[in-house]
Amino acid sequence: MSILSVKDLKVRYGGIQALRGISLDVNEGEIITLIGANGAGKSTLMNSIMGLVPKAAGKITFKGEDITKKETRKIVKSGVILAPEARHIFPGFTVKDNLMLGGYFGSTSENEKELETVFTLFPILKERIHQMGGTLSGGEQQMLAIGRAMMAKPKVLMLDEPSLGLAPLIITDIFKLFGRIREMGVTIILVEQNARMALKTADRCYVIESGRIVTEDTAENLLRSDTVVKAYLG
Ligand code: ATP
Repeated sequence: MSILSVKDLKVRYGGIQALRGISLDVNEGEIITLIGANGAGKSTLMNSIMGLVPKAAGKITFKGEDITKKETRKIVKSGVILAPEARHIFPGFTVKDNLMLGGYFGSTSENEKELETVFTLFPILKERIHQMGGTLSGGEQQMLAIGRAMMAKPKVLMLDEPSLGLAPLIITDIFKLFGRIREMGVTIILVEQNARMALKTADRCYVIESGRIVTEDTAENLLRSDTVVKAYLG
């Protein structure tokens, strides 16, 4: 069953057409990935789902409800959450305070419970609980960004470039957790430039070029596709 659906979405920044009619459907419990070069429109797509950029045309529905014009805070409250790139954590706040910020809509007792869930996913964050966010390693900061998003109890979790700037071993560790997050009932949209890792993790993939979806298929098929291998897997 489709949990999130985007129909013919168009976004312009002044004269630049960043999205030229994007349509996609995400099924409940799926891990999908969006791959595409720099500037293809991946961040714009996620930001417009979150209500952070104005849309020129198109429709977005979440669990059957039209959220095209909903305010960001209401979209977050309904369970669609974006985990931004790790550099968007608060460096001068402790790990615990960074996490608690993600629990903005939760009660204290709900947040304490979610905190334990985050610590089972990322035990290192428990060890670092009183450390400033900015003193964490790159991998730990990425875990903190994902942990903070998990505090908001997402139904759909969008991840913006979780592999960015990380060593391969750490990327593997983080990507392994996406399966566990899915088992917690979370549908995942993974935006990546590291196409190989993304395709190994995802069920399905959309390839975006210049604001359009040019390919849509199972991750398994795309890993075997000559065009995709040549363009995105080097
Ligand atoms: P990257 O991986 O580099 O972040 P992307 O696929 O996420 O790339 P977007 O950041 O969505 O791509 O950008 C899509 C297009 O829109 C690009 O041409 C970009 O220059 C342009 N763009 C993005 N944000 C703005 C903005 N705030 N104002 C004007 N143009 C923008």
